[in-house]
Amino acid sequence: MENQKQIPELFGSMVFNDSVMRERLSEDVYTKLRGTIRRGKALDPDISGPVADAMRKWAMEKGATHFTHWFQPLTGITAEKHDSFIEPADDGQVIMKFSGKSLVRGEPDASSFPHGGLRATFEARGYTAWDPTSPAFVRDHTLYIPTAFCSFGGEALDKKTPLLRSMECLRNAARRLMTLFGKTDIGTINPTVGAEQEYFLIPREAYEKRPDLRLCGRTLYGARPPKGQELEDHYFGAIKPRVKAFMEELDEELWKLGIMAKTEHNEVAPCQHELAPIFCTTNIACDHNQLTMEMMKRVAERHGFVCLLHEKPFAYVNGSGKHNNWSISTSHGVNLLEPGDSPADNAQFLLFLSAVIAAVDEYADLLLISVADVGNDHRLGANEAPPAILSMFLGDELTEILDCLSEGRPYRAHDSVRLDVGASVLPKFPKDNTDRNRTSPFAFTGNKFEFRMLGSSASIADANIVLNTIVSEMLDRFSTRLESAADFTATVRDIVTETYRAHKRVIFNGNGYAEEWQEEAARRGLHNYHTAAEAIPHLTDPENVALFEKHGIFTEAELGSRCEIMLENCIKIITIEAGTMIDMARKDILPAVSRRVGALCTDFSEHKALGLPSSYERKTAEHLGGLCERIADAAESLEAALTAARRPDTLQERALFCGTEVRKAMQELRNAADEAEADMPRTAWPYPSYADILFY
Ligand code: ADP
Ligand code: MG
Repeated sequence: MENQKQIPELFGSMVFNDSVMRERLSEDVYTKLRGTIRRGKALDPDISGPVADAMRKWAMEKGATHFTHWFQPLTGITAEKHDSFIEPADDGQVIMKFSGKSLVRGEPDASSFPHGGLRATFEARGYTAWDPTSPAFVRDHTLYIPTAFCSFGGEALDKKTPLLRSMECLRNAARRLMTLFGKTDIGTINPTVGAEQEYFLIPREAYEKRPDLRLCGRTLYGARPPKGQELEDHYFGAIKPRVKAFMEELDEELWKLGIMAKTEHNEVAPCQHELAPIFCTTNIACDHNQLTMEMMKRVAERHGFVCLLHEKPFAYVNGSGKHNNWSISTSHGVNLLEPGDSPADNAQFLLFLSAVIAAVDEYADLLLISVADVGNDHRLGANEAPPAILSMFLGDELTEILDCLSEGRPYRAHDSVRLDVGASVLPKFPKDNTDRNRTSPFAFTGNKFEFRMLGSSASIADANIVLNTIVSEMLDRFSTRLESAADFTATVRDIVTETYRAHKRVIFNGNGYAEEWQEEAARRGLHNYHTAAEAIPHLTDPENVALFEKHGIFTEAELGSRCEIMLENCIKIITIEAGTMIDMARKDILPAVSRRVGALCTDFSEHKALGLPSSYERKTAEHLGGLCERIADAAESLEAALTAARRPDTLQERALFCGTEVRKAMQELRNAADEAEADMPRTAWPYPSYADILFY
């Protein structure tokens, strides 16, 4: 970018945003559309024609010839089918047209997307429906229209539909509670999200030479390099010019799409980086995170890199995650998770805080399921990411305040004042900055919660659907109690203290990586699922079905289908990884090691014939020869494990078998091959080593 002053003009230049709408729509149409976007009013069908026409004209000025209904099927990534604007004209020529009908609804068919039994292929029609709350944009000469994707019967086949439902649910629950505080002029309430994205950037040449990276997005083999991340010289280190050039171009591309890319830095592992945007409404944050991941991959290619979004591309160094910073805000700019200045505001803050505490404790299993993924299995519980136990960090100050409140004792900073909800101003407590406890999976960071368990490749939709729903449930419970309370203030106090006492076990301000925490958490009765396959089936536990049905987020059938898809996904991914390992072992690794043994044997005979020392040749040939056998045997065992994995009757059993037995067999094979790699000449190993990839 030659001239920094151009950034404000560049920002959002490819987005059909509010200012474009105001400029290009009639006042009446604009007002109605804005009502839908800002206040969630039903879309007036009469305005779709003029909006579509304005969109097309604007998009064509930006070079668009096509449009697409862009959606987020259950694959976790995005999908699109492009249609051109051309329509036949009477004179045999064509005209460019885009109707209101084409804007509002699409019928992509798309029968091959996972649906978990929700639609039989003979009635495979899936519909896309325009989501006016996320702005349309132009990319690659195409007008992108964010849409929801549903079945013929109206069941959600995507991630956006339930996300929008959950936002609506939280909006209503928060408003209901605020009304009890006499607040009616609060504008629109929305959950907000800022998703920090970690990723690896590796040289393309190395990537091309590794089938595991190409097929699975992660290395399945690789001996420990002499250097990893132990010097901590990469974290926040100076950014290499080649990487900097990538980041600059990425920023520009994201800015054009109205994505507020803000912070970029090097992460802990070599070749690992992070990008954080400025937060926005959840739905848009979710679309933006998808676009960010796609754009990272594309821009990487232009710079001779490959961007890896896998949770664990390399053993021995950290994997990648995503931090979901979450809060609730009103359109008047009030953050409902920000402690207030008046007693009433603080009482309200404490209720919202209590709702989150209760929600995270009671529905911890749902939060764990929302991040469950075979890729993420490699991180959670390993010493680099929060453990697979869900606990919450509040910081010492806030914990002390809640302790004092619930025990009726004076707060130490205010010896004389007994804390009382709704009667006294909460003592000012310093915001705990995130760095104070990076080991917590769910940390309160002053005015928002940071949920840190998400995998780097995940759609943030799942975690936010759960968060919005479980917090709504608690807010509703509180409202129900308060609506019939004789003494409002006393009831607020009772709710806050009772909730704290009942759910205190989920609060843990200590080191989440420590061994002792695992034991302590078990004593507290907190969930600890070891693998995704173990967690996922709980999605359809009766209390979870009841919760989602009550709030209109998912029907039982929708939950069942999601559960099925997630389990199938576990099986498919592990099967592909195992297959890739066997293929690499038989086609590249074994031939290379065996050739090396042969060469060593020849050298050995020659040396011996000449009376030269030959013990290195003999010992190494013996060692590598032994490893050849081990690798061949381990490949065979892995193949047998894969066959056995197909046997169990239920998906759940098959997924569990893959997550345990198949993985164990994969590890055996990897151990043998990695041992061989460590003893092979650099030029004789068929793949670039970890050091070649990570320290280019
Ligand atoms: P750190 O995590 O280093 O403390 P910040 O607090 O600045 O950094 O923010 C981290 C992420 O949280 C950013 O993406 C930021 O936009 C987001 N964030 C800040 N405030 C909110 C909020 N009220 N709601 C949701 N996300 C937020
Ligand atoms: Mg952070």
